[in-house]
Amino acid sequence: MSNTIEKVKCLIIGSGPAGYTAAIYAARANMKPVLYQGTQPGGQLTTTNEVENFPGYPKGITGPEMMMELQSQAERFETDVRNGWITKVDFSGDVHKVWVNDEKEIHCDTVIISTGASAKYLGLDSEQKYLKLGGGVSACAVCDGFFYKNQEVVIVGAGDSACEEAHYLSKLCTKVTMLVRRDEFRASKIMAERVQKTENIEILYNTETDEVLGDGQVVTGVRVKNNQTNETKEIPATGFFVAIGHKPNTDIFKDYLNLDETGYIINEKPGTSKTNVDGVFVSGDAADHVYRQAITAAGTGCMAALDAERYLAAKDANFEVSTSNYN
Ligand code: NDP
Repeated sequence: MSNTIEKVKCLIIGSGPAGYTAAIYAARANMKPVLYQGTQPGGQLTTTNEVENFPGYPKGITGPEMMMELQSQAERFETDVRNGWITKVDFSGDVHKVWVNDEKEIHCDTVIISTGASAKYLGLDSEQKYLKLGGGVSACAVCDGFFYKNQEVVIVGAGDSACEEAHYLSKLCTKVTMLVRRDEFRASKIMAERVQKTENIEILYNTETDEVLGDGQVVTGVRVKNNQTNETKEIPATGFFVAIGHKPNTDIFKDYLNLDETGYIINEKPGTSKTNVDGVFVSGDAADHVYRQAITAAGTGCMAALDAERYLAAKDANFEVSTSNYN
């Protein structure tokens, strides 16, 4: 255990678009932010091939490239970007304590949580293989659907997300096959009815994924199994979308912050980034189960840095709110 306790004005946890945007704003406001990248530097976007819907990139950009650019923009203003995983926090007192890799202790005036959420996957070897290859497995139709324009795809899930994504895909793809593991949807009635009424969406009830099929590089189909009859069949498809929910990365905060039943951090004051603990702010997917886009994460990262800056200014007469962020 390290005995040296470091003190920082603004600690940012997470290195997706929310974390780096918070860092850019905090650094330009002289808050000298320290950002811990976590176990997946760059966050969820590093598993996306091409990002075409982030304004400012008319030709598109790959997810990993975009994250490198965001990092270098944060570092240009002297954000201290570090490798490391925050394993524990204590938000019970005036000083917010965090521990890095269970060792290093840091005391923070403000903390911005940008830990994101992780898409759930089925866990099949074949699914993971083509996910890692970038060969046709995705957990985000809005991000990747366009690459399957005029093609046939399969989507798994029966919640609101799956319905929304299936409907989105139906406008791009010639056919969408939806795999529902029970004989009914979990989604709200209106969302379920919308997919049921869409001509090019075929719904297979009581149906699970047996294997994602491919040629070693890209997905070519899906073998599915009816869990009532055990009958299997192969569905040709170039894309396999998984929409079975997300898990927000918020476990370490649960003893201190108000979370909803799924684990998303609750914004204490809607329309701000404030949590129930003064000086602790949240941005990005850790508090957002609805939009979940890079651009909305970046927007809330900006909000968190501005809220943290105002909090520091209110607390410390010597800390002036900078004007640079308002230009
Ligand atoms: P949900 O947890 O609501 O649904 C997950 C779905 O995935 C369920 O149908 C579940 O099946 C299915 N599933 C889970 N594991 C597997 C598996 N291993 N194999 C096959 N199917 C599986 O997650 P969502 O992301 O859809 O929604 C999360 C929250 O966000 C909900 O509260 C939802 O209402 C909300 N939301 C709202 C939207 C809106 O209002 N516009 C849009 C999107 C989400 P089963 O039903 O059998 O358990």
